Amino acid sequence: MIGFIGLGIMGSRMANNLLKNGYKVILYNRSKAKADPLLKEGAIWADSPRQVAQQADIIFTMLANPQVVESAALGKDGFLDEFPEGRLWVDCSTVDPSFTRKMAEEASRRHIRFLDAPVAGSKIPAEKGELVFLVGGNKEDLEEARPMMELMGKAIQHQGENGKGSSMKLVVNLMLAQSMAAFSEALTLGESMGLDKETVMNTLLGGVTAAPFLNSKRDKLLYGDYGAEFPLEHLQKDLQLVSQAAYEHQVSLPIANVTKEIYGLAKQFGYSKDDFSAIYKFLNTKE
Ligand code: NAP
Repeated sequence: MIGFIGLGIMGSRMANNLLKNGYKVILYNRSKAKADPLLKEGAIWADSPRQVAQQADIIFTMLANPQVVESAALGKDGFLDEFPEGRLWVDCSTVDPSFTRKMAEEASRRHIRFLDAPVAGSKIPAEKGELVFLVGGNKEDLEEARPMMELMGKAIQHQGENGKGSSMKLVVNLMLAQSMAAFSEALTLGESMGLDKETVMNTLLGGVTAAPFLNSKRDKLLYGDYGAEFPLEHLQKDLQLVSQAAYEHQVSLPIANVTKEIYGLAKQFGYSKDDFSAIYKFLNTKE
């Protein structure tokens, strides 16, 4: 039986892929309503993370941030103290490597095995089972989780020991945040000088300077539909984690920190729940 905790945009789709392929899945989410479609397909509901641990052989978590992961694992009704020795916890949430190592230690003290396995790819890849897993931890543990990851993803990249999966994820999301902001500024400049918006977008996307993922944001920017695939508040959280990790490793990331504050301001101005591509709207809005 697979335990799955966290049924947001990503977790609900990942768990669905396990269920569709014949696995038995036991679910927990803070808001039960999000589990309803999966329960109709035969998943089992648990009233707490602790109850998940009583029945699961392996637990996947896909939660908002380190604080939420820690509370699901170690808080009141957390799953770690209830999970039998020798079982495997796979955390797919985007968190920082120091936090990951702390969770790996907490798991290890209880003789629980642990993988950090955050994912690259958003709502649509999660739905199609086309995520890329960036994994930190023991190779044998990864082999145990691999058949399940293969149903949720198209690639599995082992990065090294615990913490290395989370490290790689922060590297990827730093580029994501900066590329989106840079593209938004370039587009804003073009429009301000009287260039046609769609022509600027096509020129940038047809050239070599734009990141390939920006093609998937084209329609959002063109038609102003910012329904969340990846909520802006989570990317701002990731930039905060990048900044923390850089401090811990004594490197200075000036562009990352300016970018973090741009997303922070957008959050303050009400864009938290929008897709992170709404950073264009934030930067482009004039009184
Ligand atoms: P989401 O839709 O906002 O879901 C967040 C999950 O965390 C939900 O299960 C939510 O429960 C739970 N949660 C949030 N605050 C909580 C709290 N205080 N107590 C208990 N549970 C809480 O986010 P998502 O897009 O699925 O992202 C999940 C993780 O994957 C994040 O770490 C994100 O950075 C990462 N990620 C996202 C994407 C993407 O494109 N969306 C891609 C790669 C990685 P409720 O349902 O009750 O709110």
